[in-house]
Amino acid sequence: MYLDDDKLHEECGVVGVYTANPDITSQLIYYGLFALQHRGQESAGIAIHTGNKIEFHKDMGLVADVLKQEIINRLTGNIAIGHVRYSNDGEREKQNAQPLVVRYKEGSIALAHNGNLVNADSLRDILENEGVIFQTSTDSEVVANLVSRHYRGSIVKSIQNTMEVVKGAYAFVFMTEKELIGVRDNYGLRPLCLGKREGGYLLASESCGITAMGGEFIRDIEPGEIVVINEDGVKSIKTTKYARQELCIFEHVYFARPDSNLDGVNVYRTRYNSGRLLAQEAPVKADLVFCVPDSGTPAALGYAAELNIPYGLGIIKNRYAKRTFIEPKQSLREQGVKTKLSILKELVEGKVVVMVDDSIVRGTTTKQIVNMVKEAGAKEVHVRISSPPVTHSCFFGINTPDRSKLIGANKTIEEIKEHIKADSLHFLSLENLIKSTGSTAGYCKACLNGDYPMEVPNNGI
Ligand code: AMP
Repeated sequence: MYLDDDKLHEECGVVGVYTANPDITSQLIYYGLFALQHRGQESAGIAIHTGNKIEFHKDMGLVADVLKQEIINRLTGNIAIGHVRYSNDGEREKQNAQPLVVRYKEGSIALAHNGNLVNADSLRDILENEGVIFQTSTDSEVVANLVSRHYRGSIVKSIQNTMEVVKGAYAFVFMTEKELIGVRDNYGLRPLCLGKREGGYLLASESCGITAMGGEFIRDIEPGEIVVINEDGVKSIKTTKYARQELCIFEHVYFARPDSNLDGVNVYRTRYNSGRLLAQEAPVKADLVFCVPDSGTPAALGYAAELNIPYGLGIIKNRYAKRTFIEPKQSLREQGVKTKLSILKELVEGKVVVMVDDSIVRGTTTKQIVNMVKEAGAKEVHVRISSPPVTHSCFFGINTPDRSKLIGANKTIEEIKEHIKADSLHFLSLENLIKSTGSTAGYCKACLNGDYPMEVPNNGI
């Protein structure tokens, strides 16, 4: 996905609650979104059915800043959805925050979207030519519009019809005045799962969201599945003749929280295994292994365990720092590293160290960190990355820059090693990354090998 073009690209998290107790609904949404904060830090929002209409509150900012106590106390109702979002520079606007609430023939519908559609622009053109006026620049409004236009007496049917025309990655939560609906695209590119708690049901992008809402995980929504939750319970509709599991492998590498299970696979376990396999592929006789916090932590633990090398905290992270990559401007991103990370000189000085991270995207952060570790007196710095080089842009909801800025697309591994000034560098093979999931399910690996599961703009070049 492009960071620098003028299109809308997003990383997001979604939740939904259907409960018998109207007093706890918005609080549950808050807890669910709080657990999914890592999926998007620019805006947050809730839509809730308050009895006779769907009300919403959304704004720029973190969950705790947007969903203040008085708002949570005021918004009561039995059905609600929530959203956290990160988007790139051009679209950092309140009007693009979600959930989106639109009217259709018989009332209101709200939706929240995680993912990215590849044909949203052409669908928008068609709709605009027919006279539709859009309020936002989001893909999600195109979907909302299609759902309300396709309505012929059944919202579920119109969602089904909409799924026939939209292409790309989506995990949607919809709500009407009567039901909560979860939808996953035909490839299951983005995660979505179902949970339950006393008197109701929950939906969340990741299982950590279900846990945070006090729920019990039931199952993942399947690729191409719609689940409808209403007073009759949960109903599942399989929407398509062809659905194939291709969850985004980058959810496991970087994006998801380690305590989440995605399509039955624990994220921590995958990262830990990837570290062990990384150690088998490229061992180093070192004094110390440390991670680049936080997403590199489980892989570094696996690496150290496999080779029986002491593991330590060579890098200390300021726990109040946001993810630096999230700052869209290059200059801010560079400054961000030092405010976020500092090197524990006492630990690394005079040592041969292995620094493990989950991925290299642009190479900017890694270069700075290697430099900081050297400045702190490390004798040798060996960099080990628990995924292959990112060589292609993502069009499905992970915020990677365009190919010209992907170091893995433009330099050989030897050149990257020179660029970041490491004593050695190794990336985990794709084969072993997939092996580390321990799963036989398919994964979307397009950012690592260019093999997109569907047609993408300019064939991804
Ligand atoms: P760089 O060396 O500039 O490519 O930065 C690498 C760091 O970016 C690693 O620590 C990754 O954990 C992190 N990273 C990878 N993908 C993303 C992403 N989509 N958003 C934010 N950070 C990311």
